[in-house]
Amino acid sequence: PMKQRLLVVANRLPVSAVRRGEDSWSLEISAGGLVSALLGVKDVDAKWIGWAGVSVPDEVGQRALTKALAEKRCIPVFLDEEIVHQYYNGYCNNILWPLFHYLGLPQEDRLATTRSFQSQFDAYKRANQMFADVVNKHYQEGDVVWCHDYHLMFLPKCLKEYNSKMKVGWFLHTPFPSSEIHRTLPSRSELLRSVLAADLVGFHTYDYARHFVSACTRILGLEGTPEGVEDQGRLTRVAAFPIGIDSDRFKRALELPAVKEHINELTHRFAGRKVMLGVDRLDMIKGIPQKILAFEKFLEENPSWRDKVVLLQIAVPTRTDVPEYQKLTSQVHEIVGRINGRFGTLTAVPIHHLDRSLDFHALCALYAVTDVALVTSLRDGMNLVSYEFVACQGSKKGVLILSEFAGAAQSLGAGALLVNPWNITEVAASIGYALDMSPDEREKRHRHNYAHVTTHTAQDWAETFVSELNDTVVEAQLRT
Ligand code: UDP
Repeated sequence: PMKQRLLVVANRLPVSAVRRGEDSWSLEISAGGLVSALLGVKDVDAKWIGWAGVSVPDEVGQRALTKALAEKRCIPVFLDEEIVHQYYNGYCNNILWPLFHYLGLPQEDRLATTRSFQSQFDAYKRANQMFADVVNKHYQEGDVVWCHDYHLMFLPKCLKEYNSKMKVGWFLHTPFPSSEIHRTLPSRSELLRSVLAADLVGFHTYDYARHFVSACTRILGLEGTPEGVEDQGRLTRVAAFPIGIDSDRFKRALELPAVKEHINELTHRFAGRKVMLGVDRLDMIKGIPQKILAFEKFLEENPSWRDKVVLLQIAVPTRTDVPEYQKLTSQVHEIVGRINGRFGTLTAVPIHHLDRSLDFHALCALYAVTDVALVTSLRDGMNLVSYEFVACQGSKKGVLILSEFAGAAQSLGAGALLVNPWNITEVAASIGYALDMSPDEREKRHRHNYAHVTTHTAQDWAETFVSELNDTVVEAQLRT
């Protein structure tokens, strides 16, 4: 049989593009979760549609980039700087991201926000229409179109306006908040209706799916069923599809001589100390100050541990041009400085805080030598770091302390120590419990999580979503 054609539409293409000359580009594929997930899906011929992350105002440059990307199975959507500013920095990152993570709508300078709101939403719709135009140009009958994330909530509607027979799925990678939160959004109804134009709508957890259905019933007055949302006889299927990781990729990395050597070095460096690890983008949602304060409390209450444990915090810089993020950075630096000043010695400090990212192999080595991983997200769609840590712990069987507000708590809850990151006392106690845990209990908890992470892979996730989308369309045709 012919391979199923799949058009994956996401805000960003999985490449970084650097211009080398008037008509020459160098491209590097970023091997994120989504890419390896879709590469592994059998019998699917996938193409990517999205923004390349660079502004290309001239036609010569656009043509050259389009050609270079085609070799990587990528198709660009060109967005000019003004629209990127209003759609991406504005509506996506300043409105939807904080709202979906329960941080509310921006409140400082409320009037300015309210006034710019409409123009940002207009830009959002325009940008989504530009994505739709490109999809429509490349669409062939029978293709499955899979739209990703909060950047493209308007896309399902635009696509169905082009062609009501298009098979359209939409998946959200962040939480979907309680309907009481979604209600505050000025464009609440229009966004919900656009998403409902899809045939299948997917979320990481049942809670997020349930929140979405409630928002549709309460705000739009539609009927919610166990299957999804019904509007005048037409059903939009809504379901949970928890994402996974390519766990084999991590296992393979740990077998590489260079990574093994790095693991040896780290083991040597931290000999005599237990290693605790945090890996997060430096974002408000990750609860980094809460995590570090809990660690401080633990050290305060357990003097005997002070020279026997170290916390390595990798804080990947993100949105560094935004004042709130700059403020968070200095806040974290201040707390780390205080704690290291308080509990450090002439030869050692309790916290190693890095404002940078690590490459894949360095990250794998770090996961492998970790005794206790600490994930304290205040809200997090899934949190893949927790999965990656588990995948790299085949031999060590370290402990995962995991926020109950991360989507991963639904799948790794049986093996992890779940905590409320706002409860510093509880997190501090869990750190103590994790460090003292018996090998038996560690082994048992690890086995749970390891089994889950290695059997619920990114590839399974993508396969399940695509086949569910195909089934949904067939069932809808049978009903009419
Ligand atoms: N990551 C990375 N280099 C780093 C730190 C993190 O490549 O130095 C990756 C990490 O492996 C993971 C992703 O960034 O795949 C973070 O995903 P997660 O779902 O935990 O959080 P997000 O950043 O998407 O909110």
